[in-house]
Amino acid sequence: MPSGKEITGTRRTGATKKNAFCSFCRKSYRDVGPLVEGPGDVYVCGECIELCQSILDQERKRRGSSQQLFAKVPSPREIVAQLDSYVIGQESAKRVLAVAVHSHYKRLMAAEDESDVDIDKSNILLVGPTGCGKTLLAKTLARSLNVPFAIGDATTLTEAGYVGEDVENLLLKLLHAADFDVESAQRGILYIDEIDKIGKTSQNVSITRDVSGEGVQQALLKMLEGTMANVPPQGGRKHPEQQYIQIDTTNILFICGGTFAGVEDVVRKRLGKRSIGFSQDGERNEEVSFSEAIGQVTADDLVEYGMIPELVGRLPVVSSLRPLDESALVRVLTEPNNALTRQYQRLFSMEEADLQFTPGALDAIARRAHERETGARGLRSIIESVMLDIMFELPDQPRGQRYTVSEAVVDGREKLFTETPEKKSA
Ligand code: ADP
Repeated sequence: MPSGKEITGTRRTGATKKNAFCSFCRKSYRDVGPLVEGPGDVYVCGECIELCQSILDQERKRRGSSQQLFAKVPSPREIVAQLDSYVIGQESAKRVLAVAVHSHYKRLMAAEDESDVDIDKSNILLVGPTGCGKTLLAKTLARSLNVPFAIGDATTLTEAGYVGEDVENLLLKLLHAADFDVESAQRGILYIDEIDKIGKTSQNVSITRDVSGEGVQQALLKMLEGTMANVPPQGGRKHPEQQYIQIDTTNILFICGGTFAGVEDVVRKRLGKRSIGFSQDGERNEEVSFSEAIGQVTADDLVEYGMIPELVGRLPVVSSLRPLDESALVRVLTEPNNALTRQYQRLFSMEEADLQFTPGALDAIARRAHERETGARGLRSIIESVMLDIMFELPDQPRGQRYTVSEAVVDGREKLFTETPEKKSA
């Protein structure tokens, strides 16, 4: 007999009322076991109590999540502070993002109070070379706002009938991230990478892109603007007999990212044109560096570059990220909460060993990564190859050792450890 909380006017029925039945599901005591009796001739069974509980939980969660999310939209300053602990540099992109995101969620809040307020979407476009932190920014943003976040790739999308993914599959990822809670997915952030590959570029027409042409663009445009999308819960291609989950994309914040290789030339050209009549600027324009040029990208440049104007129009906030220089790469190695050197130090401390990197070693790793031109992406593979031998040996080494990674170790001129005599004899 389960013991229940005593509620006034309520008692448990026992063997005495064998003919009692649940007032909700009409099943008898014999079928469903003990019933809780209320005032009058009312009973409720365990199954119905559980069902009611889950309905109440869901409702509470639904209300709670919207209140919790929107009761405290962080200020742009707070958002930037959050981003600072994970992303090095990119100050202007951080500010632009913080303001856009803050206003986006503020507008949603306003729309909840007065349902007749129209919300303008403020989707964001991040332009910058690979490995400079575009995805990281979007991801950190979602974490600081505590909203569902998913990453998709525009290059995998193809029109129905071809091998590839439907645009709706991007929304499915968001739905997964939200644990299939449609309400919260509808307020999430979706990062779409490689958006530059979807435009019809005048210089770089390829057969594969023609395949994914119009249809994908139209579907994507609709999704960015706000539509009721039919998402197949199992993913894959759509087919007629399938059941769909409907997702309203109106309040989803889309952040698109792309490298836009070559857009700097468009910027340089524009800056060059402008200098006509300003002879004193003429020479300086010759030297507009990649970093400076990419910092000044505008929506017009992107259209000139080959993006379709409709797409650029649906991404009203454009911000550019600059490539990371060597000193920024050193900071990436050491400063973020989950910096690579910290991760290794943690691994070493698990083996009761101490690990240090000399400034020269950090510079050497950053220099190599910079040469590869893959931004901060190169850092991990370089540091992993430097650390491979010691990671192999570490568990067999004596405890309490101190290891210092110097420039010579990075260059492969020295080893980080000496093989112990015991180990040799073993
Ligand atoms: P992309 O700009 O190509 O989207 P990512 O954001 O995916 O680049 O960066 C790849 C990895 O490089 C990240 O996981 C992160 O560890 C590191 N990284 C890139 N940029 C930065 C940055 N500005 N600050 C800190 N880490 C960075």
